[in-house]
Amino acid sequence: MKFKEQIYGMKAYQPGKPIEEVQREFGLNEVVKLASNENPFGCSPKVKEFIKENGINFAIYPDGYAQELRTAVSKHIGVEESQLLFGNGSDDLIAIISRALLYPGVNTVMADPSFSQYAHNAEIEGAEIRKVPLTDGKHDLKKMLEAIDENTSIVWVCNPNNPTGTIVSDEELSAFLEKVPKDVLVVLDEAYYEYITDPSYKDTLRYIEKYPNVLIMRTFSKAYGLAAFRVGYAIAQADLIAKLDPVRAPFNNTVLSQKVAIVALEDQEFIKESVEQNEKGKQLYVEFCEKHGLKYYPTQTNFILFEVKTDSDVIFQEMMKRGFIVRSGNALGTPGFIRVSFGTEEQNSKFLSLLEEVLKEQGVLA
Ligand SMILES: *Cc1c(COP(=O)(O)O)cnc(C)c1O
Repeated sequence: MKFKEQIYGMKAYQPGKPIEEVQREFGLNEVVKLASNENPFGCSPKVKEFIKENGINFAIYPDGYAQELRTAVSKHIGVEESQLLFGNGSDDLIAIISRALLYPGVNTVMADPSFSQYAHNAEIEGAEIRKVPLTDGKHDLKKMLEAIDENTSIVWVCNPNNPTGTIVSDEELSAFLEKVPKDVLVVLDEAYYEYITDPSYKDTLRYIEKYPNVLIMRTFSKAYGLAAFRVGYAIAQADLIAKLDPVRAPFNNTVLSQKVAIVALEDQEFIKESVEQNEKGKQLYVEFCEKHGLKYYPTQTNFILFEVKTDSDVIFQEMMKRGFIVRSGNALGTPGFIRVSFGTEEQNSKFLSLLEEVLKEQGVLA
């Protein structure tokens, strides 16, 4: 068949191992997944109440324009309704943006390592991929600027970056945006926006007003704890959104996911508590790394990438046997490191004491 040439070499996204599979494989009653940066506290209890009490008609198509959700998000963040584009998760937005702006002959610039889907979608569209290595786990915006030429179509800034958790400071970002050519789209992927506590991050919405070529992506999958529902949104000037909208599938969010996102948005108390707990978790992991002299990156997210001073696949495997699924750095382009999502207080202390045991067993710690 007449597949695009590049499709032949491609593999599907490799997700973290599902809990049920690990339970079966190792005969474990309880398995905790700290591999996909999900909210360990679930989602707002109001979402569960809503689902129990509100029947919906399954035979009716969703509102493709997501009007109610659009109104709620526009009020919540303070932009016009026409400045929003909803996706089936941010993953869908990345695909829409790539489909609209990437094709053979153009290139796209991104950090390395960063979120895998930027390169994955670029590959499908046959665009050239320009990966700029991180410096100290952070986007090197100066080098990324140098990588831009007249054929560059999109620059991806994952802020905070997955898998390192680092942010670029507002100073660096503003200098960068000032210099990027006006015909290059800059995507700021803020999947972990709600978790940021560093004061050197300043709200990026003002860049939307200033630059017609900047787009921000946010999601309900991480802090809001609604990964299963697949809702993400893009914010940009209305003209840019209007250009991307025809590329979107007509009913790309379900009826239930739209409603549930509205309910979750109203419960900011839940987000506040999640972030507070997350900070406590972060503290434990940072102390662990400091105590044992393991290199780590300062994180502004709900996960941390740190060194295990041995093959990260071995640590991944040993922790899995003990009931914890994490991400091996080998799968993320950071060999010798593991990425762990923060869990509940109990999960974090159990994880860290088991990890200490494993690192001793492996001869990493005395
Ligand atoms: C998790 C994640 C996403 C995907 O989020 P969805 O909205 O669930 O598709 C996008 N970008 C980054 C950096 C992520 O870590």
